[in-house]
Amino acid sequence: DSLAADTTTTATCGYCSTGCGLRLHIKDGEAIGLTPETNYPVNLGMACPKGWEALRVLDSDERATTPLLRDSGGKLQPISWELAFETFVQKVRDVQAKHGPDSVAFLSTGQIPCEEMAFLGALARFAMGIRHGDGNTRQCMATAVSAYKESFGFDAPPFTYDDFEQSDCLVFIGANPCIGHPIMWERVLRNRNNPEIIVIDPRRTETAMASTQHLQLRPKSDLALLYAITNWLIENDHVDHEFVHSHTRGFDELREHVAKFDLGTVSKSCGVSEESIVRAARSIGTGKAVSLWWTMGVNQSYEGTRTAQAIINIALITGNIGKPGTGANSITGQCNAMGSRLWSSTTNLFGHHRFESEADRIKVAEALNMDVDCIPSQGSWKYDRIIEGVRRGEIKALWVIATNPAHSWIDQSDVCSLLGKLDFLAVQDMYHTTETARLADLVLPSAGWGEKEGTFINSERRYGLLKKVRRAPGQALADFQILKGIAHYWGAAEQFAEWTDPEAVFRIMQRASRDQPCDITGIDGYAEIDQCGGIQWPWTEHDAQATSRPPQQRRLFADGRFFHDDGKARLIVDDITPMPEPTSSEYPVMLLTGRGTVSQWHTQTRTRQSPVLKMLYPQEAYIEINPVDADQWEIDHGDLVIIESRRGRIQANANVTATVRRGQAFMPMHYEITNQITLSHFDPHSGQPSYKDCAVRITRS
Ligand code: SF4
Repeated sequence: DSLAADTTTTATCGYCSTGCGLRLHIKDGEAIGLTPETNYPVNLGMACPKGWEALRVLDSDERATTPLLRDSGGKLQPISWELAFETFVQKVRDVQAKHGPDSVAFLSTGQIPCEEMAFLGALARFAMGIRHGDGNTRQCMATAVSAYKESFGFDAPPFTYDDFEQSDCLVFIGANPCIGHPIMWERVLRNRNNPEIIVIDPRRTETAMASTQHLQLRPKSDLALLYAITNWLIENDHVDHEFVHSHTRGFDELREHVAKFDLGTVSKSCGVSEESIVRAARSIGTGKAVSLWWTMGVNQSYEGTRTAQAIINIALITGNIGKPGTGANSITGQCNAMGSRLWSSTTNLFGHHRFESEADRIKVAEALNMDVDCIPSQGSWKYDRIIEGVRRGEIKALWVIATNPAHSWIDQSDVCSLLGKLDFLAVQDMYHTTETARLADLVLPSAGWGEKEGTFINSERRYGLLKKVRRAPGQALADFQILKGIAHYWGAAEQFAEWTDPEAVFRIMQRASRDQPCDITGIDGYAEIDQCGGIQWPWTEHDAQATSRPPQQRRLFADGRFFHDDGKARLIVDDITPMPEPTSSEYPVMLLTGRGTVSQWHTQTRTRQSPVLKMLYPQEAYIEINPVDADQWEIDHGDLVIIESRRGRIQANANVTATVRRGQAFMPMHYEITNQITLSHFDPHSGQPSYKDCAVRITRS
């Protein structure tokens, strides 16, 4: 088909935060095929199976093609957009009138473009009086945000993908880029420095198998291990004293704290030999360009923020930041997790300002041409508090946009019963078949990737362009158009008169970003993003005047100046938190959850629509069990087993494999049942759920 295309264009992929460029092959205005873009600085001509199949999932029979309203018999029935908008607005107003404005909340996503995030947050919070709203980024990146803000003074991942190729020592903590971020892993494979690759992970993941050192520690012992490594680095004087003195604060407290983490004690508690810890520490201490990378193994933890900061501490004290091949680098999950962090006006105000600051509210109001009185002085409740609000009867209506909490939220059965208690549940999604949409009172059908415009921000802070290369099916509308419709029916059209199309909103975002660390005032519109292969923030007017074209790769902190007022980064430490649900004689196995294969994505809302992707992973849920445990429990490979926790009981096929240690098991998060047994507990600083530690027992079915 691609040979028949009459033109091509490039757009950023809409799955993961790598942000690959895809070349769309277009005939008569419609994309008929795609290939990875060879001339894009992110992926250099590569794509993973999800990217290759990005168009296929748009053609599914499960697409929501018309608004649906639940009738008195409990069935979802097609209705017109007029009735859908009227119903939505009336229901929200009714609930607010009866229970107060704070009784309506929204849950959004890291999957829609920045401009739609910006519109949603502004409409809900500055026009509709909805105080509480959060995104599913709370489930993936909130920990990194909290850690960076406290340590650097701003949520600022410092790296660029070139660092994968420039390091001579790469440390992956709770990260499995081989399958989670496969194109980033391809960048590692292009590294010509014969690098040391250290993986810190309780599971022998694909990345661990490809490493030069695997520290297969006990689940949730990572903070102690990182402190022991820090202690060894200090004791053996692998410290960049000049950098520490000039650019950080808190070194004495750090040294005193980590001195408590002696090798012998930590080795026993982590289940990693002293020699292995020292070998890893020495590789870090002697490396010329050391980069440390983390994802959900760190973020989805009840002490995730402090663990992320322990990683940041190591980069700071060894001076591994701001230079090629270095950094304390959080890899984001979703294609626009960072856009959600910067623009959704949930717990942070538009452009990562502070709701609590009057000066910030005035600045944002001016950028938006809105009355400052419409901007609240408090941020939203976090996701977990919103769910708790539903339980307590404080939240009576929920508006869910492009996310699937009935599958993905921790302790899923509890969440599903809570969603059933709502007076009104509206779900805005591409598919009417998600677990959450099936519970909805009203479904608003939305266009997906490839059917609308906007920008995504990838893990290395790069704005990439999303393009409309397909018509959305039936009556489905871009979320942008749905938000415009709601604004109109709410009576707020005038307030959003300037928000005519995504690029107009991008210009508003640029105004609001001025003088922030994420300043993008220098970008000359969508056309320049397109021509440059994406543009990393910051790119200020001043930058643009000094250099005509943004360089393809830039990292932060090259001058050693951080975003705290004194310009110094903070070295932050804390005590170890006991595991909330340790194993016991009744529940002797620690269950880990995570990404299963390269072909699955989150709750499979999209990936299960592709026959090709479905062929690349098991359709039935499976659980990895250590061979010695399996032998003891008389379980054979392929047997159906029962997995029970204090929350519930599920069944899956046994995958007997040495990827997990004895007393541990692993289940992919993509199956509908996995979160029926996970334990509802959170990192206290970020509010991120801790998905990777719940005690279970496993028996043959
Ligand atoms: Fe898309 Fe991520 Fe795959 Fe790249 S690695 S093609 S961004 S899903």
